[in-house]
Amino acid sequence: MIANNISRAPDGALRFAGQSVPALAAQYGTPLYLMDEDRIRSNCRMYRDAFRACYGDGALPLYAGKACAFKQMYRIMAEEGMGVDAVSVGEIHTALEAGFPAERIYFHGDGKTDADIRFALDHGVGWFIVDNPGELEQLNAEAGRRGIRQKILLRITPGIDPHTYRAISTGMVDVKFGVAIETGQAREFVRAAMGMEHLETAGLHCHVGSSVFDEDVFQRTVDIMVCFMKELRDALGFVTRVLNVGGGYGVRYVDSDPQTDIPARIREVAAHLRQKTAEAGLPLPYFLMEPGRSIVADAGMTVYTVSTVKHIPGYKSYAVVDGGMTDNPRYCLYGAKYTVLHAERDGHLRAIFDLVGRACESGDVIQPAVSLPADTARGDRIAVCTTGAYNYAMASNYNRLPRPAVVMLRGKESYIAVRRETVEDLCALDV
Ligand SMILES: *Cc1c(COP(=O)(O)O)cnc(C)c1O
Repeated sequence: MIANNISRAPDGALRFAGQSVPALAAQYGTPLYLMDEDRIRSNCRMYRDAFRACYGDGALPLYAGKACAFKQMYRIMAEEGMGVDAVSVGEIHTALEAGFPAERIYFHGDGKTDADIRFALDHGVGWFIVDNPGELEQLNAEAGRRGIRQKILLRITPGIDPHTYRAISTGMVDVKFGVAIETGQAREFVRAAMGMEHLETAGLHCHVGSSVFDEDVFQRTVDIMVCFMKELRDALGFVTRVLNVGGGYGVRYVDSDPQTDIPARIREVAAHLRQKTAEAGLPLPYFLMEPGRSIVADAGMTVYTVSTVKHIPGYKSYAVVDGGMTDNPRYCLYGAKYTVLHAERDGHLRAIFDLVGRACESGDVIQPAVSLPADTARGDRIAVCTTGAYNYAMASNYNRLPRPAVVMLRGKESYIAVRRETVEDLCALDV
């Protein structure tokens, strides 16, 4: 199986986190997001333990809430001692509603509005990750109005493409996030921040991208950032006390994806950072990472019911389900791969189907060319694995389809973390 929290009972029924998927589908209805709470917690602990082993108290993993955000998720993050990275007032509000401590929220984003800045300051958000000089000035003014000194990190663009960086080592300078080192703008950004009376510039942030599998991407990032930290100390007398290297470790969606040994990667990056800062005569900074996908992806599974099966002789077969791009737009957006399983039986005689959704859009494909039992038919349950990240978070109401419920699995129990939307909910904002 693609993840070790998925198995099959002797009667063929799929089990997720030790519970029967067809039984959960019958109890809660479909389409349905299932989330393995124990797996979310163990993924958090994997980061926490590795950070503690490498840095003692000098590091904190931040959960990137954009991967999957609702109140119960933030309660779990609070209990697991994680920080969180938030990218909007909506995420901050959700975290605070859940009782998540404001001082452990890091507010990201390249497009923060004046209202966003005011909201975050008024709610005591601990850290801003300032993306650009305009935000810097506005934040300084608003902090001054409140008579506070706001802690910030500055978002720097190190210029690495995590997927092709071997070929173009100075690529990715032209992204919309942060301020580039290569153009000299980043140094000026730091200089400007140092002059801001109401901002405490504690350090730097960078994020090279998502689905990182290559072992040395973060080490290359550390090389570039430490080199820049040295430049800042020598040129400006600025000491980087906090370094945030972003998120991005990849997860396995299909069998051909590599397995990432995250604790081993964290140890390598820590050793590398120690060595490089020592060589540069810099203090070891407080270390932050922002994993999203690798905390929640393998804790998620989506369950559907087949509405119809269509065979077009000489062409292809479709299995149409009761959800689709509205609950999982990732194949439509960027051809994301998923492992698809029949939830009730394995089936020896198999056939190839395009698993498609119910939205009025021919591009509404969850996954093309999946192997399912040849006799798959209306009423059967289908599971799509590894949907914990960027699925519920990206869900829409296109075609006025209500969003599915999110059901958490904990030990032998299950409970609703987000209830299913109703048709009344869909009209709730209409006048
Ligand atoms: C998306 C993002 C993350 C999380 O990335 P994952 O691939 O989900 O780990 C962290 N930090 C920033 C700035 C991001 O944009």
